Amino acid sequence: MELTRVAISALFLLLAFGSSSAKVEEENPEFWRSQAKQTLQSVLDRELNTNVAKNILFFLGDGMGITTYTAARILKGQLQNQTGEETVMTMDTFPSVGLAKTYSVDFQIADSAATATAYLCGVKTNLNTIGVSAATRNGVCKSQKGNEVTSILKWAKDAGKSVGIVTTTRVQHATPAATYAHTASRKWYSDADMPAGAKKDGCTDISSQLLSNTDIDVIIGGGRKYMTPRGTKDPEYPRDYSSWGKRKDGRDLIKEWQSMKFGKVAHYVWNKTDFDAVDPETTDYLMALFEPGDLRFEADRDPNMDPSIVETTEKAIRILQKNPKGFFLLVEGGRIDQAHHAGRAYMALHEAVALDYAIAKGLELTKENETLTIVMADHSHPMTFNGYPFRGQSILGKSPLWAMDVLPYTTLMYGNGPGHKVANGTRPDIRNVNTNYVQLAAVPTESATHSGEDVAVLARGPMAHLFQGVQEQNYIAHAMAYAACVGADQRHSNLNGSL
Ligand SMILES: [Zn+2]
Repeated sequence: MELTRVAISALFLLLAFGSSSAKVEEENPEFWRSQAKQTLQSVLDRELNTNVAKNILFFLGDGMGITTYTAARILKGQLQNQTGEETVMTMDTFPSVGLAKTYSVDFQIADSAATATAYLCGVKTNLNTIGVSAATRNGVCKSQKGNEVTSILKWAKDAGKSVGIVTTTRVQHATPAATYAHTASRKWYSDADMPAGAKKDGCTDISSQLLSNTDIDVIIGGGRKYMTPRGTKDPEYPRDYSSWGKRKDGRDLIKEWQSMKFGKVAHYVWNKTDFDAVDPETTDYLMALFEPGDLRFEADRDPNMDPSIVETTEKAIRILQKNPKGFFLLVEGGRIDQAHHAGRAYMALHEAVALDYAIAKGLELTKENETLTIVMADHSHPMTFNGYPFRGQSILGKSPLWAMDVLPYTTLMYGNGPGHKVANGTRPDIRNVNTNYVQLAAVPTESATHSGEDVAVLARGPMAHLFQGVQEQNYIAHAMAYAACVGADQRHSNLNGSL
């Protein structure tokens, strides 16, 4: 009974506060009617864009499930002192929206390696494997032979386009690796990460494939420790042993890359000063590796040492778009996922907001009539968005209604993860706790898992209407290729004439 009384009085409090925080103009029905009319007219005025896509700009939010998407929208607005819910993110303006089913051939809930192989190579595969079909067994080099599948980045390069990858993780990480590598294990970053048997059977590490497979014009991210011989001191952290070179084969892939590009204007940079000095107008090739491993979270980034994803996206587009035949660029907000694994909603949402600003930069630098822009996630995470927070209440805050244990809880929390904290049957009292922290999780796991619900696919530009409905994730690669007339299916260029 006591609990019920507490809940009822809390509800009265909520209603009282709730009504006073409403926006006055929203009390007028005309506000909603005129807004809806404007939206309706813009949808009615929309014309199908059936051009051949000269460029493909592909933004991938790693782990950016729909809950993250909505919560990031609210955070973006709140960072601009708005209530947030009504904020229109750049990705919200994409006219075509569909859903993609993310399961892999062997698991109901997939990882970034299997999903990237699906949406980049057009073939669903097994967990932990990259650029190979499901006939390949996880970690078994021998099973990879003859089962390689190529990506849309390669198809675009073969069609004469310039191609690039931009990520906030190491460039050997699952998502970017699926554009260029074929490997039975996503963990084979350098030869030092491979079992002797796999090397003996002729498999090669992901870093070496970055040089030996498709000729990639722009490579931006982290991961320099996998490129240099064991014991090579890192230029930024010379005293940190863990950041030193890892390779056992003695190869210096950065130097090799530079000599491979002899006669071209090719720049290797590892800090922002040198990056800023790269003139996109005169640059043919750029390799930028800003950290030994993954880049820092946007919220922790040192703006004097490392550029933002907005700056890296801009540099990549400016270099690639000099090609009259167009470009394919993958831009990955790769650490949304890593923040969620750590149960840190604050970090995950700031990463997603940064990705939205990069998308805005991408749209600013390209033309809608010739550039197919896609935004999607590879998979989701078990973050829930719950309670009855007031309108405009901090998305990283607490529910105004307490739970049955007479304790508050956060609006965002996790199904599983490192934030599980129950002592003697009681949750922690967070009344005086800053909740930009590791959110509570129902089940203790060292790292939050992924989750298995569908992800959103947003599209804008030529053939954007192909990206509608509920589709298998591997369909995305085929639809992008059709729109741009790259790869095996050339029917669209016959219909439209080549660009
Ligand atoms: Zn993950």
